[in-house]
Amino acid sequence: MVKRKDDVTLQEEALASQIPEFTETPQEEVHVPEKISSRILNRNQVDEEEMADFEKRTNATGLGENIFAKAEARDGWIAIDRRLLGERDFYYPEDWQFLVRPATVEVVRNWSMLDETNGNSIDDVFNEILKYCLSIKSNTGVKTWQSINNWDRFFFVLLIREYTFVQGESKVEFFEECPYCEAEVKFNLDCQALMYDLPDDEVKRYYDRENRVWVIDPADFEIPAERALYLYNPTVEKDANIKAWLIAEYQENNKKKFDPVFIKFLPWLCAKISKDVPSARVQIRKAEMTFKSWDTEMFSFMNDVLKNISVTPSTNISAICPACGEEAVTRLRFPDGVGALFNVVNRRKKFGTK
Ligand SMILES: [Zn+2]
Repeated sequence: MVKRKDDVTLQEEALASQIPEFTETPQEEVHVPEKISSRILNRNQVDEEEMADFEKRTNATGLGENIFAKAEARDGWIAIDRRLLGERDFYYPEDWQFLVRPATVEVVRNWSMLDETNGNSIDDVFNEILKYCLSIKSNTGVKTWQSINNWDRFFFVLLIREYTFVQGESKVEFFEECPYCEAEVKFNLDCQALMYDLPDDEVKRYYDRENRVWVIDPADFEIPAERALYLYNPTVEKDANIKAWLIAEYQENNKKKFDPVFIKFLPWLCAKISKDVPSARVQIRKAEMTFKSWDTEMFSFMNDVLKNISVTPSTNISAICPACGEEAVTRLRFPDGVGALFNVVNRRKKFGTK
């Protein structure tokens, strides 16, 4: 492994884990639950009857009780009810079907190699889990697991985790006081507790669901432009290939410096970025030419667009208060570290103290 620092490490970490914990400075240890902000999505409301009907029709499953009822089928792939994605479901074509299976021994073995202080290590281990345990089917065939939007990566990791520990072993929970009625609220870190800052409804009409692309004509906003702009969802695949390109550029071009603003736009500007570095270079150079052609007005417009169409994972998670029924929110954290997520050791008697 070549030792790299500075720019490229920062870029990699920015592309790495979608867990905000590792990209933000840790906050103070006192956690006061906050009232929910109006822009943050509420928990996904799934109609129980509708859910039961869906399961009957598709043999798919939701979470918790439903998965438990199908525990005997755990070894195989199981179709996931897309409504678990909440509003983020909109950012996938309608014919996609997500399938998960429990983490295998190999995956758990790799998990034990996790270096929690290193964003890249977390990145690798998360990808490893998804590689083995997530599959996507569509009308045109199987899609790579890397086709998921990068903001959903942690969601799918948690989903697989819940499926792996069907009986609720290894829960990540903590308790806090409800900000509305002061009752005790249990926060359980599961895929339904995650929160996201989402695009407003009024901009959604610019999104082409089938092709996973935002089509925006600057002329509609009084900005002279010859043609409409196409902005493609950032995927786990593009992130990985951008990372490979960054490393290659850095190593081959005398510790090349990267423009972080361009890197932020890059995944949106390319429909695809090749795994093959020479091809990626051509694609990225084209995107860079577009990026550099923007004048101040255009750049400022594009910056607004990106702010409005991005799905941003929140640093908070939510839970419903059992006493007053309100939604309480607290900061996402891992009381026993990220390593505890797939930790199976605590199910048996511990050997030694280390
Ligand atoms: Zn309450």
